Amino acid sequence: MAALVIDGKAAAQKSGEEVRERVRFLREKGTIPCLGVILVGEDPASLSYVTAKEKALAETGMASRDLRLAADTDEATLLSHIAALNEDPAVHGILVQLPLPAHIREDRVISAIDPRKDVDGFHPVSVGNLVLGKRGFVPCTPQGVVTLLREMNIPLAGAHAVVVGRSNIVGKPLVNLLSRREINATVTLCHTGTRDLARYTLDADILIAAAGKAGLITADMIREGAAVIDVGVNRVPDPSAKKGYRLRGDVDFEGAAERASVITPVPGGVGPMTIAMLLRNVVQAAEDSE
Ligand code: NAD
Repeated sequence: MAALVIDGKAAAQKSGEEVRERVRFLREKGTIPCLGVILVGEDPASLSYVTAKEKALAETGMASRDLRLAADTDEATLLSHIAALNEDPAVHGILVQLPLPAHIREDRVISAIDPRKDVDGFHPVSVGNLVLGKRGFVPCTPQGVVTLLREMNIPLAGAHAVVVGRSNIVGKPLVNLLSRREINATVTLCHTGTRDLARYTLDADILIAAAGKAGLITADMIREGAAVIDVGVNRVPDPSAKKGYRLRGDVDFEGAAERASVITPVPGGVGPMTIAMLLRNVVQAAEDSE
């Protein structure tokens, strides 16, 4: 079987059109949705993520308030910038690009964001709302994964979804999202403490890899006909590439495509959806502020 390759870019574009409509409606009423974007330091990967997010905001008619801070910025200064953005009625969402330099406590910073502007969905209040099944911001990557699955008409209710990875930004929120009553999947969470990973992955109707380990999931770990979503983005050295590396997912794509019914590529799968869901959360924050 050769899997259908899911086009994350096309799905992201479709979502972007819906967002553009909502932005147009808000702008007619005099509101320009605006995201405050804070980047501390000059990590090249973080810089490229922030640039991509700001470009996508502009393309959908939204604004961004750009704060680039030096790598040695202290925690109190960063917190004072967040406090100012919290107070600013023209700013609807706040994004602090992670990871932060080691001398800054990430949890302090995330907790300082007004939950009404927490478009990344990392604030403890947002996490609580997700776990309780209440309305609130849902982290963008897990929301992107579910939107892609829905877009592909993959049956979710009653399906066995296996998530590999238990981070706070991907694995854990994904488990909470998929097990919500309106989605109704049966979820297994695998992590570094899991004995015999293949025993679980082989039973997955939907297999979601978010471990950050290139090629961790091989064809022999995939059930024939499963839907495979690869969240991993790993840089692997490649002397033939211009940058000296290429991006690989957590799934051995070529082998997996022989077994799966649908599969996401890396790049071009989950990545574009993550940004698309951020746009959705920003327009939502602006609508809610009305
Ligand atoms: P993380 O390092 O915080 O967490 C990885 C998790 O995977 C850990 O909980 C660990 O228990 C688990 N894990 C690691 N090795 C494992 C193994 N051999 N077997 C079973 N479990 C294992 O990473 P993260 O922030 O969740 O990101 C995961 C991957 O997804 C990374 O490659 C990251 O770059 C990528 N990512 C992509 C997007 C996107 O938009 N496409 C967004 C966020 C993260």
